[in-house]
Order: sequence, then structure tokens, then C-alpha cells
Amino acid sequence: MLNKENNINFIPAKSPINWDEYFMLQAMMASFKSKDPSTKVGAVFVDKNNHQVTMGYNGFVAGIDETQLPWGKDPQASLEFQKYGYVVHAEANAILHSKDSLEGTRAYVTLFPCHECAKLLASSKVSEVIFLSDKHRETESNRISKKIFSLAGIKFRQLEIHDIAINSMHKHFQTLIEQVL
Ligand SMILES: [Zn+2]
Repeated sequence: MLNKENNINFIPAKSPINWDEYFMLQAMMASFKSKDPSTKVGAVFVDKNNHQVTMGYNGFVAGIDETQLPWGKDPQASLEFQKYGYVVHAEANAILHSKDSLEGTRAYVTLFPCHECAKLLASSKVSEVIFLSDKHRETESNRISKKIFSLAGIKFRQLEIHDIAINSMHKHFQTLIEQVL
């Protein structure tokens, strides 16, 4: 039996971030890869054992010549000449690329899902949606999403990422980089 009290190697240890923060930061990291100049969104799906199942970010349809497509969203142009004609949302990309069932998973998203993605999330039997921003909450699409989630029994809640988590992560990254030198 190890004597905890007298052993110098028993150091009180605590993770600087909790699971919610950990996965939201991963969703934020995924969004960083998006080429969309105006709205970068990331999504990470996690199972009940806190294992990441899939992730995605918003981008043009995979495998096509992106240089032929517009990133602009000026409504004066027709849909054919707006990004909306060609972009696949972060949640949709994550769902499309998952090799495993998403039933019962939690979805961490940097932006509350649009109604098209809400349909996919509900059909995938996701259990909970955790979001960072809900900046489109006044829109009809947003109301439809919330109606779909409520009808499907999908919980949803907003998560705040505090500066302290970002700062401690930044400090950690610097420590990792310094170790290389
Ligand atoms: Zn969407």
C-alpha cells in the first residue's frame, strides 16, 4: 500500500480545462481551417466516453476546383454566384465523414446549427448540441432548428469559453514550442 501522505510524488493535479472546454476548443480549432472569409465554423462530435468520433468545418464541396467558386455572399448576385450555392456546413461535413454511428453523441459547434444541419443532427440521433455563438437567433432558420431539436428530444445549451482557458492554452503552446528549441 502506497502512503499518499508521505510520498513526494503524489502531487495534487488538475486539468486546466474541463471536457466541455476541451471539445469546444477543438471545434474552434477545426473552424480555423475554414477558408470562408466571413464565417468560419467548426464542429466536433463526441461519444459518451468523451472520445471524439468525427469533426468538420465549413468548406466547398470536396474534390472540386475551388478556384471556380465564389466566397462572396453579396445578395445582389444570384445564388449561382454566391458561396451559399456551394458551401457544405461544418456539421454536415462532420456527419458525412464519420465512419461510425453518431447516435447518442454530443455535438460541439462554434455556431448554433442552421435548420438544414438541425435536420441532419436529429436524423443522426445526436443527443445534445453545445454551441458557442447563437448570433442568428432572431432568424426563422434558427427557430426551425430549435423546434426540430425540441421535437427530437435533443438538448441544447450555450457554452462560454473564458479568457483563462484561452490564456492557459496559449501558455501551454508556448511551453511546447520552447521545448523544441
Ligand atoms: Zn448548417
